[in-house]
Amino acid sequence: MCGIVGVSLREPLEPHRAAYSLYYGLYALQHRGQESAGIVVSRDGEGSRISKGMGMVPHIFAPDDLKRLQGNVGIGHVRYSTTGSSRIENCQPFIIDYKDGSLAVAHNGNLVNYAQLRAGLEGEGRVFTSTTDTEVIAHLLVKELLIHKDLVEAVRELMRILVGAYSLTLLVNGRLVAIRDPLGIRPLCIGRLENGWVAASESVAIDTLGGRFLRDVKPGEILMFNGADEEPRSARLYRAATTAHCIFEYIYLARPDAILDGRLVYDTRVRIGELLAEEHPAEADVVTSVPDSGVASAIGYSDRSGIPYRETLMKNRYVGRTFIMPEAEMRDIAVKLKLNVLGPQVKDKRVIVVDDSIVRGTTVRRIVDSLKARGAREVHMRIGSPPITSPCYLGVDMKSKGELIASQHSVEEVRRFIHADSLGYLSLGGLVRAVGMTEKHLCTGCLTGVYPVEVPGEKWTARQMKLSHFTP
Ligand code: SF4
Repeated sequence: MCGIVGVSLREPLEPHRAAYSLYYGLYALQHRGQESAGIVVSRDGEGSRISKGMGMVPHIFAPDDLKRLQGNVGIGHVRYSTTGSSRIENCQPFIIDYKDGSLAVAHNGNLVNYAQLRAGLEGEGRVFTSTTDTEVIAHLLVKELLIHKDLVEAVRELMRILVGAYSLTLLVNGRLVAIRDPLGIRPLCIGRLENGWVAASESVAIDTLGGRFLRDVKPGEILMFNGADEEPRSARLYRAATTAHCIFEYIYLARPDAILDGRLVYDTRVRIGELLAEEHPAEADVVTSVPDSGVASAIGYSDRSGIPYRETLMKNRYVGRTFIMPEAEMRDIAVKLKLNVLGPQVKDKRVIVVDDSIVRGTTVRRIVDSLKARGAREVHMRIGSPPITSPCYLGVDMKSKGELIASQHSVEEVRRFIHADSLGYLSLGGLVRAVGMTEKHLCTGCLTGVYPVEVPGEKWTARQMKLSHFTP
């Protein structure tokens, strides 16, 4: 998971306006990645100016950095690593200068055929400065641009080669371009600003910039922005038999105030809680949530069950999301720092705790233990997704089955491990109903072990990215 943004603005009175817009857009997407961030801007194709670094958005960009980034068009990226380790060489956007110009790329997603594509490019003598799949995309696009000259034809060829998830914002010779993979696995949307256009992973970035959300970028679509006043040019390069929107965006990844593929994430999470109450009722005194992603579902559970909702876990908002931090030791410390129990709300009570998912089980066990240590009589865990049993190969850091408690253990074994009095997971059918799409339009790979693209050694469905399944 990463966050991307792009703006194409009217030639500004203040020459650093694009950099500031990207900065605030990235700040709104900070939940999608906290390891590094970068901004590239250009003015009418006159070369690019870049600033990037490790850490969170407000710590990387000082006001003087942003003032230096003069230009009216640009892209930005917040990163959390799925391919390539957490180091400065892997920060995005990537810039490549080539014979006919320059290209900058910001990428959200993960390529399944990264290693094979990279080996091919290295065999042709191309040199890589990072270990990420994004640099592979940049090199491949340059290669196709040199062959085809026309951007649309080059991207059509690129899409034919790439297997996996990719939402992209590009700066091609100073022009903003937005691309979404043919299955629409990761989100991407566009909006209108008073002084131009914006493309972003989630609509919350558009809201933050005071813009008007227009629509999602369609799966397989390229949008080329030509200045602030012209409508962007669109071409639908491939149309898959079905889409494969990541169901986890609705459960956990996206902000609740985001609109993804026409659905407000908050509404989906409330419905998740309502259906969870129907599928797994419990006798209890209070319903509570693990903040923040469990809140809307806990409210839904409370509404449907009639059991009052109370806050019992107080979050230290200055600690990052534990799930995002890749090192195990960092995760441990972060969990301890992150949540404190409001003792009187749970003492002698039977408590239903709603959370979005269980990955390793260690965080939830600490929460159950903390509630019991503060006097909770019973703790009933309710989870707004089915058990996560398989890794994600498409841009979320769930790397191996060994890290996923539900891939090795039954629900009863997980219940015992987390010390809960009862444990109930929402069924896949319930989750799909809550999202409001049919299952065939969603990726459910980490829940079912069946992926929407060909993953070596795994099961995959017939909507895989083979050209024969697309109608150009
Ligand atoms: S495998 Fe899971 S997390 Fe990964 S894209 Fe599919 S639904 Fe999303």
